[in-house]
Amino acid sequence: MKFRCRICEQDLLEQASSCTCTYCGQEEEAEWSCPMGHYLCESCRTAGPDDLTERTCLHSEARNPLELAELLMRHPAFHAYGEEHHSLAAPVILAALRKQGVPGVTEEAIRLSIARLQGIPISVCGTRGDCGSAASAGTVISILRSATPLSDQERTEALRATAHTLLRIADRGGPRCCKQSVFEAIVCTWERLQDELQLAALPAHSCAFAGKLKDCKTTRCPYFG
Ligand SMILES: [Zn+2]
Ligand SMILES: [Zn+2]
Repeated sequence: MKFRCRICEQDLLEQASSCTCTYCGQEEEAEWSCPMGHYLCESCRTAGPDDLTERTCLHSEARNPLELAELLMRHPAFHAYGEEHHSLAAPVILAALRKQGVPGVTEEAIRLSIARLQGIPISVCGTRGDCGSAASAGTVISILRSATPLSDQERTEALRATAHTLLRIADRGGPRCCKQSVFEAIVCTWERLQDELQLAALPAHSCAFAGKLKDCKTTRCPYFG
């Protein structure tokens, strides 16, 4: 019998050991383990995308939101394309900011960001000229600025964050790629906050799904290897 690691796709080794879940950090006794140390606990194995995102973002030590987003998108709860990507960029950005020691970024902020991004239908890029990942960028700024519909400057900043990301996604051209949109939302938001929060620039990122998705834009995409 052979099993593969869902994270790195290497063959699992049959050896009983105590393993720590790569997503939520829970420890479990397991009969099979990945040679790279990856492990998916029973609860995370069957979790839906938002539940998995919340558990992972609350536990994660990652300071690079691109890597955190990619780990989540490798989980089978995330399909190649789909609306589950809409509520991904905001919580991973907030989780990374929290680990960077940015004041005021709480566990509650991470939960709130996921809740606010519910209900954006699939395919709105083509049908409405909108994108859930762009809304994710606006959500981060809204939460950091405590914006409301009645705010002045704070509301403007949240709108600008969404608009800036949407424009970046549009400028990339081609058919929809939810992975690219998530990466763009993260990069645009990071660039927006970098000076203010004295964040290091994100390293260049190569997409783990490059060439593996049906409509991959290959060399047209800046994240293509
Ligand atoms: Zn692995
Ligand atoms: Zn877990």
